[in-house]
Amino acid sequence: MIPYKHEPFTDFTVEENQQAMKKGLETVNGYLGQDYPLIIGGERIMTEDKVRSYNPAKKDETIGFVSKATQEHAEQAMEVAKATFETWRSSSATVRADILFRAAAIIRRRKFEFSALMVKEAGKPWNEADADTAEAIDFLEFYGREMLRLKDGVKVESRPGEFNRYDYIPLGVGVVISPWNFPFAIMAGTTVAPLVTGNTVLLKPSSNTLVVAYKFMEVLEEAGMPKGVVNFIPGSSRDIGDFIVDHVDTRFISFTGSRDVGVHIYERAAKVHEGQLNLKRVIAEMGGKDTIVVDSEADLELAAEAIVKSAFGFSGQKCSACSRAIVLEDVYDEVIAKVKEKTEKLTVGNPETNEHFMGPVIDENSLNKIKEYIEIGKNEDGGTVLVGGTTDEEEGHFVHPTVFVDVKHDSRIMKEEIFGPVVGIAKAKDFTEAIKFANDTDYGLTGAVITNNREHLEEARRDFMVGNLYFNRGCTGAIVGYQPFGGFKMSGTDSKAGGPDYLVLHMQGRTSSEML
Ligand code: NAD
Repeated sequence: MIPYKHEPFTDFTVEENQQAMKKGLETVNGYLGQDYPLIIGGERIMTEDKVRSYNPAKKDETIGFVSKATQEHAEQAMEVAKATFETWRSSSATVRADILFRAAAIIRRRKFEFSALMVKEAGKPWNEADADTAEAIDFLEFYGREMLRLKDGVKVESRPGEFNRYDYIPLGVGVVISPWNFPFAIMAGTTVAPLVTGNTVLLKPSSNTLVVAYKFMEVLEEAGMPKGVVNFIPGSSRDIGDFIVDHVDTRFISFTGSRDVGVHIYERAAKVHEGQLNLKRVIAEMGGKDTIVVDSEADLELAAEAIVKSAFGFSGQKCSACSRAIVLEDVYDEVIAKVKEKTEKLTVGNPETNEHFMGPVIDENSLNKIKEYIEIGKNEDGGTVLVGGTTDEEEGHFVHPTVFVDVKHDSRIMKEEIFGPVVGIAKAKDFTEAIKFANDTDYGLTGAVITNNREHLEEARRDFMVGNLYFNRGCTGAIVGYQPFGGFKMSGTDSKAGGPDYLVLHMQGRTSSEML
């Protein structure tokens, strides 16, 4: 087996790659506006009531109409998943891993089509869409190998006359609920981790990005996934969300999304219903309020670059995005001048032609929430808009990159997740205070420190309470298998996607002890 290595990113300055992407866009244009069914036990079920998935850069362009599962469909999917579990749980781990490797190969061949689909369905700029596809491939390649590593259990000691084993066995039926911001990578990663560990799945992806999820289901089928292992039940959370979380036969829930929904699911999953045989396990990866700290002994050019890229890449819609910077007061003016200059150069527009650094935000709700926060920043928090603060809503949901300065570290825009292209910059008098300010949020997902001072770097490693901490770089862009990803505090359960402990969360350990 070739050792795992992450999928390289595409260089779009190369003409051949540009042409490949244009071809990908043509392929996607060829299937816009189609109807998509639910998939339960391999059966296609088309419903009357559908979700319209549309292009956030071009609101009148429909990507597809996707069927909506009702509670009856969810129940049907649960029955199928339970029945399929009885055979799937004892399938060979090698065969399961092979399905992931084959799926990765299929996606690699259709890489530009998948990326193009995300350009249209999620408004991702080319490079961001390409990174999302690469990450989906990485999850498949990485978790496949992880399963091969774990398939024979872990060594434990045995005394004379006894043979002890410690094996990992699957849990049962898992509910996977995924967000729209990594519509391919997170959706695929959180689906195949339970699959490869021998569980069966009810997959409910975000309603904003259902077509990419449907296309992934087709890939899994083509790769040899038996019917009923993953059941595709998109639908309104109001109709089926609580139902699938509460279900007595749900063994575990893997959720990625906002804090409010994550906490809601966590609480509901704790309730033991009549007839329930297991305590539900919950993986909940939630929001962030991620900070870049800039020390006085630092490369300020690098600092400004890190802030701007991390704050505005994919319009700030990454859970890892930099939405606050804490800068030491003696370099504050210089850093904000550099951030201003760099931000003013960024352009916003339809990502399809690859001319703009930023595309749209995902939908109207998101746009309105960001606008509200810009008002809060100006009025309630008393901040100054250094750049941006405006929107363009005619054809799509565009928000210009926005920088607030002179905000207190504990004002609302510095503590609450906005999930858009808005960053606030506050001052600290020394490094210790900067780390204290950085920690002064309920979240603890990512953070970065820009410093040339080794002692400060170690201080941050000890005291900066985030799950993913970066030094002298931005705070986004974790790579599967290289920087396992997951947050502390209200950012989630620290499940560390793409890390060595991840698959084990989808299994239970069984000790067996045989007398010889
Ligand atoms: P969201 O919480 O609105 O939705 C996430 C998923 O939950 C969607 O599929 C949605 O349909 C579903 N959902 C909503 N209400 C539900 C309910 N009551 N029961 C069951 N399911 C329900 O989040 P979003 O807007 O899709 O994604 C953005 C959020 O995700 C941000 O807060 C971001 O920080 C977070 N995020 C976190 C990570 C991470 O790894 N920590 C990664 C990506 C995104």
